[in-house]
Amino acid sequence: MILASTNETVEAGNGFNHKDIISVSQFNTKNLDYIFHRACEMRDVVEQDGCSDLLKGKVLACLFYEPSTRTSASFIAAMDRLGGRVIPITQGVQFSSVSKGESLADTIRTLEQYADVIVLRHPEIGSAQLAADYADVPVINAGDGAGEHPTQALLDLFTIYEELGTLENLKISMVGDLRNGRTVHSLTKLLTLYKVNLRFVSPEILRMPLTIMNEVIDAGINVRETHDVADVIKNADVLYVTRVQKERFTDLSQYEEVKGHYEITPEIMSQAKEKMIIMHPLPRVGEIHDSVDSDPRAAYFRQVKNGMYIRMALLAAVLGK
Ligand code: ASP
Repeated sequence: MILASTNETVEAGNGFNHKDIISVSQFNTKNLDYIFHRACEMRDVVEQDGCSDLLKGKVLACLFYEPSTRTSASFIAAMDRLGGRVIPITQGVQFSSVSKGESLADTIRTLEQYADVIVLRHPEIGSAQLAADYADVPVINAGDGAGEHPTQALLDLFTIYEELGTLENLKISMVGDLRNGRTVHSLTKLLTLYKVNLRFVSPEILRMPLTIMNEVIDAGINVRETHDVADVIKNADVLYVTRVQKERFTDLSQYEEVKGHYEITPEIMSQAKEKMIIMHPLPRVGEIHDSVDSDPRAAYFRQVKNGMYIRMALLAAVLGK
């Protein structure tokens, strides 16, 4: 549930002041309520005035060692709309000293001399924690390899709430590369805080990792695995579709075997509930047919917009505003 702004929620929010955001395990239902409440406020700011000066004088360093469109652009837009400034080392990381062999630790210790907060995407699991260990300013994990993507999970959960009006008693099906997809790892962990049914749909070699399955089972969640979308489509409230993560395969012939395994088409959508929503962290590379886009249940571009509000809320929270 999203709470009104009470002293209790404000206190929960203050808990983020000067904190790193590395994993969804830092969140509970109370501080999620706080972030969602702030995200709604940020939406009002954007819709009414376009921007504010809440973070005027603050600087964000955006350091991306892996490609990104939405995560990097939404952090930059979020900082812009709150009146702060950005040092973007994103698509151009190959032109930075990283290409000269500089260590992540040294790059982080340099950037924190200029910036009040660092957003990091890096191909290695654990890199965000490593950066946080070196930095005195807050580090926000924008994806560490196949590990976690906490800010995406927050915007995903916020989208489910905004679209369906609740986070309880939902049947949520995740489809695709559950082994390598960091978004489904983080979202699954967050969902263990709620009373939901989870269905995992993947080819055998892309099943959800055992460690995450065990967390789900320990949380007492009703969970099943299947290879077939047909097993879940009729009952799902949320169909969360993902891309096969080509960049995580060492054997590309294995990628070729599983790549076009699922494609959601209008025909499949015709079997789904009228109120189901279909989500995708994007980019999509064929998992959802373009002709599904005009279906009102297609929530993936609304999901993108929510990303900016959530990241505005997070930046404000870690910068103590
Ligand atoms: N954009 C998401 C991520 O960075 C999903 C994806 O790349 O498939 O994890």
